[in-house]
Amino acid sequence: MNFSDIFSSVRRKQAKPHEAPNHWIKCSNCSALMYYKEIQMHFNVCPKCGFHMRITPFERLELLVDENSFVEFDANLTAIDPLKFVDSKSYKKRLEESEAKTGRRSAVLSGECLIEKRKVQLVIFDFSFMGGSLGSVEGEKVVRAAKRAIEARNPLVIISASGGARMQESTFSLMQMSKTSAALKLLAEEKLPFISILSDPTMGGVSASFAFLGDLIIAEPGALVGFAGARVIKQTIGADLPEGFQRAEFLLEHGLIDAIVPRSEHKKFLSHFLGLFMKD
Ligand SMILES: [Zn+2]
Repeated sequence: MNFSDIFSSVRRKQAKPHEAPNHWIKCSNCSALMYYKEIQMHFNVCPKCGFHMRITPFERLELLVDENSFVEFDANLTAIDPLKFVDSKSYKKRLEESEAKTGRRSAVLSGECLIEKRKVQLVIFDFSFMGGSLGSVEGEKVVRAAKRAIEARNPLVIISASGGARMQESTFSLMQMSKTSAALKLLAEEKLPFISILSDPTMGGVSASFAFLGDLIIAEPGALVGFAGARVIKQTIGADLPEGFQRAEFLLEHGLIDAIVPRSEHKKFLSHFLGLFMKD
């Protein structure tokens, strides 16, 4: 093997950008490459450009709730597969894979906790479980959280991160839109607050139901929020879309949400507004 052969074999062994080791994370907004611990220290917010990357439900808890105060409910609710749905893989297989990846049986973590000493019913969507899609278990968990809020007279906070309805459950998934909306109506009748936090992305059936029914609707900076995707809309209407379309900043400017709040300030923000809404 001559020198140029050795050189080319070494070159072949070098990682391509998309093969970069997991402990180096590339910001999808500014392309800065950072060590994962640097990102973790900032709760998955890019320290270079402020872009809010996705975050696991457990990282959310760490950021938001008083230490050791979270008690999970309904962890064992498991999706059934009424349609025996199969696309490139069976729905059953996709559920098994998501459970192995996240350690959870659905795309929702729900429970009660204290936020600055105030009891709150909390629902957190996990995008890494089948794109945070809204299936019958996820819908049921939202409804049960709303019912617990009514029984205990607690506020409800839902943090969404979802591509929308779960295709594999078809109409059973779409039913969750009306079911969750009805539960929130009962909560509103009891004059209990619901704060909706939209994170990247909040799309489809989730944005078209409970996510936009908050008494207060806030979003993380840069979050993609909408119903149909921009490409589908562009193809349908045959026109270019305005810059920043479906981003949190665009929604705020057009009056669809109440505020954009950086992740690091969520706890303080919730504590302040829940204090205004709730009588001690
Ligand atoms: Zn960045």
